[in-house]
Amino acid sequence: MDMKKKIVVKFGGTSVADPDRIEKAAEKVIAEVKRGNRVAVVVSAMSGVTNQLLHYCAQIQSGLDSSDYDVVVASGEQVTAGLMALALQKRGFKSQSYLGWQVPIISNTQHGRARIQDIRPEILNVAMANDIIPVIAGFQGVTEGGRVTTLGRGGSDTTAVAIAAALRADRCDIYTDVDGVYTCDPRIVAQARKLPCVTYEEMLEMAALGAKVLHPRSVELAMGWGVPLQVLSSFGPQIGSDLPGTQVVREESVMEKQIVNGVTYTRNEAKITLVSVPDKPGIAASIFGPLGDAGVNVDMIVQNISSDGKTTDMTFTVPRGDADLTKSVLQRAPDLYVGYVGDIRVDLHVSKVSVVGIGMTSHSGVAKTMFSTLAQEGINIRAITTSEIKISVLIDEDYTELAVRALHTAFGLDKERP
Ligand code: ADP
Ligand code: ASP
Ligand code: MG
Repeated sequence: MDMKKKIVVKFGGTSVADPDRIEKAAEKVIAEVKRGNRVAVVVSAMSGVTNQLLHYCAQIQSGLDSSDYDVVVASGEQVTAGLMALALQKRGFKSQSYLGWQVPIISNTQHGRARIQDIRPEILNVAMANDIIPVIAGFQGVTEGGRVTTLGRGGSDTTAVAIAAALRADRCDIYTDVDGVYTCDPRIVAQARKLPCVTYEEMLEMAALGAKVLHPRSVELAMGWGVPLQVLSSFGPQIGSDLPGTQVVREESVMEKQIVNGVTYTRNEAKITLVSVPDKPGIAASIFGPLGDAGVNVDMIVQNISSDGKTTDMTFTVPRGDADLTKSVLQRAPDLYVGYVGDIRVDLHVSKVSVVGIGMTSHSGVAKTMFSTLAQEGINIRAITTSEIKISVLIDEDYTELAVRALHTAFGLDKERP
């Protein structure tokens, strides 16, 4: 029986930004192999390349719903997969690159934001058993019909975790340009602290609410499949087994549950207000039913009090990219327009700021601290949503960084000064 551990390592865009960085990443792979592990590598496109490819598409066509859009944007990962295999071969190791369809990584047909449905890992298992290091292009899949898909921005993390689950790997290491998951984006809050560990649940909320260090779907898969996951820097001297980064762990293994462990923000929101909708039973269904049918994810919802007993304003948020679609769906929503004379207002100048923590379930007072902190800064809250382990508020986009920093301090997350 093969006693060697199987480890999947993933390198993000900055970690493979040029041939020199790719060679450095290859050294980390080799260090892991020399520890006696079997390693599979997943790579992103070189940083900036996916944006460039998107830009090319946009110059030809503004809508990005064609499957050929995926053919273009998936190409960035092909280049790095090949270069990484070359770098490993140069160092005397057997290696081979694989594109999504060659594995295959089967996804659904939602081009641009496809979900992985199945991975048939035999080809990778055979390679690894023969001491060949497979290098898999991240971010891409293939439909049952044979068309190339992509998994949404940041989706290479998801490729890595899905491969780790399919290989029944012992660990999935995500190498990136920060040395772990922080209490807040360290580029926004200099006082942010690195978390030694974070629960899957917290990480899932943080990722979904804007902490782009991990793709939300990758955390969901890791949680579902029980894949041990860690985030670490590709720039430092350590390799995965040194456990220097942040481990994503099960709730049971956390002794002291922090009330708030992270502050996140996202500018990816649009606020939609329907002015003067009839205040009568069925109105919410007439708005959100058609939006659901059109695949628009509605997040925060506020229905204002009716001052005259006849009409009210309904405010909600949708992903910014779906703002136009939302407006056109509502303009055609049949039941809404019976007697509706109001206006549909779209505000793109908003952001969502959230606090996340597993200890919130058993503590009250988080909302109070959050709202009074924002009040002290003179920041108006437009909408609120909560779950067991998070509170999110919608605010004016201009105040995003002020809000994030103030909350980080208010919840005692600032690192101690030396
Ligand atoms: P990669 O190209 O390696 O996938 P990303 O740019 O997707 O890297 O993710 C890493 C970035 O995520 C960091 O550079 C950091 O600015 C940002 N980030 C946002 N929130 C956090 C957080 N809470 N902890 C760490 N990094 C964060
Ligand atoms: N290259 C893709 C992107 O920039 C996927 C990834 O890096 O994870 O979104
Ligand atoms: Mg990323």
